[in-house]
Amino acid sequence: MNNIEGSIVAKFGGTSVATKDTILTIVEIVRRSLTRRPVLVVSALSGITDALLALSRVQKRLIKRNIRVISEIHRTLINDLFSDREIGAEVINYVDEQLRKVEDVVRRGNLTPSDMDELVSFGEIISSYIIAQALQANGINAEQVIASRVIVTDDNFMQAEFLPEETERNARSILRPILQRGIVPIITGFIGSTKDGQTTTLGRGGSDYSASIIGYCLGAKEVQIWTDVNGIYTADPKTVLSAQLIPEISYREASEMATFGARVLHPRTIKPAIQKNIPVRILNTFN
Ligand code: ASP
Ligand code: MG
Repeated sequence: MNNIEGSIVAKFGGTSVATKDTILTIVEIVRRSLTRRPVLVVSALSGITDALLALSRVQKRLIKRNIRVISEIHRTLINDLFSDREIGAEVINYVDEQLRKVEDVVRRGNLTPSDMDELVSFGEIISSYIIAQALQANGINAEQVIASRVIVTDDNFMQAEFLPEETERNARSILRPILQRGIVPIITGFIGSTKDGQTTTLGRGGSDYSASIIGYCLGAKEVQIWTDVNGIYTADPKTVLSAQLIPEISYREASEMATFGARVLHPRTIKPAIQKNIPVRILNTFN
């Protein structure tokens, strides 16, 4: 398996990594695609990015309490997901270890944009670990990859742009060996780092962008965006009953729609995939 071209990059958003059932769905999706060398990109659990950002605004005496709420959300999921108590305890330990780092960042006070990115990155760091462990527990060889090792960006904190050359080099040296050993990399969405190693984020909803960047760097066969709708519609299917699913759309048409407020995909986020002619498919984890 020397050639990693032809991999598929599958991104799972916050609602897809939120419950035992959705995570077991991910496990089955990965199992079915194992021969296609899947690479996963995952978001933080639904609501966690907002909860982490909110920590920067709470009163000092409420920091511990708010972090406990974040811990509880993860614990509930972990207890549900892992029937093996030992593994469950290990995963909870990992979460609490990361949340102690979160607390350290928050206690700095007066957070800079760079601090904010460090703070918010823990949502994806934690979710990617949980997903990797869930795959392992279900007999699939998987490994967490924190994207600050792979995706190199400029220093425009909270809205960073990736640097193609550096990122491609890292994708080759870090992701390729993992794939060659038959392991599924579980990559944190949303985050990257500057050349000198400071954590950055790619803007809210940035995990789609991460998936597209990884697809670009691996020369993937396809980028799949797993979400909670069936694809791009003529109107918002959550509010317009007559909205119709569009089976195929050009990058240009998608860009025009996004200008008018379509929410499924932001054109900026799929640009790297489009530049290499990699098809982007939107799929529904719940359907
Ligand atoms: N978790 C990040 C956010 O909520 C990135 C993403 O979900 O795409 O913005
Ligand atoms: Mg999100």
